[in-house]
Amino acid sequence: MLIEQNLESLKVDIPDHVTLVAVSKTKPVSDIQEAFDAGQQIFGENKIQEMVNKYDVLPKSIQWHMIGHLQRNKVKYMAHFVDLIHGVDSLKTLKEIDKQAKKHDRIINCLLQARIAEEETKFGLTFDEIEIIMNSEDFKSLKNIQIKGLMGMATFTDDTNQIAKEFKSLKTFYDKLKSDNLSTFNFQLSTLSMGMSGDYKIAIENGSNMIRVGSKIFGARNYIA
Ligand SMILES: *Cc1c(COP(=O)(O)O)cnc(C)c1O
Repeated sequence: MLIEQNLESLKVDIPDHVTLVAVSKTKPVSDIQEAFDAGQQIFGENKIQEMVNKYDVLPKSIQWHMIGHLQRNKVKYMAHFVDLIHGVDSLKTLKEIDKQAKKHDRIINCLLQARIAEEETKFGLTFDEIEIIMNSEDFKSLKNIQIKGLMGMATFTDDTNQIAKEFKSLKTFYDKLKSDNLSTFNFQLSTLSMGMSGDYKIAIENGSNMIRVGSKIFGARNYIA
């Protein structure tokens, strides 16, 4: 019941052009089923093994997004079903995703994770590194991945100006990449994944069209994941 209510009140804040990823990491299958029954189709997990376990027992029409930092050696376990991988931050990882996607004769959608936070701890590529990857022959030869957009996480702070500034910088870079019109088969930008429970409103104001919300739907998590 509570999950359904949380989803309803969240939706008031979300315009039609923004996709909601319900982040269900650490939460039980019964919570996901409840959200699914309330109409939510897209779920995000940050550990591959946990996502696979949930995929195995839940309705197959669920779209699964991997939002966490990727361990390359585990990509193979989700390659047959993952719908979008948000946290890609190296060409090496892209190559592994491409290789595993090929085995299943499919194309796996990916977002490149950009480093926009001031914090040292956050993963991600600099804008320069993203341009270098995109323009490399190695990247252009990958046929079983598609870069759909960018993902970023703002600094964990109460300073809303700081958060807005970081989201705005990623939106500006995203727009620049789009207008450069470098679109190749495997590089077709449509998605800008920014915003979590604490900052999704700021993210939407600054151009996000995909938000990843966990605790505001499922309640606080018992441990840091
Ligand atoms: C956990 C997580 C979220 C959701 O966090 P909440 O604050 O619970 O909404 C979003 N994005 C990533 C990458 C996460 O790891």
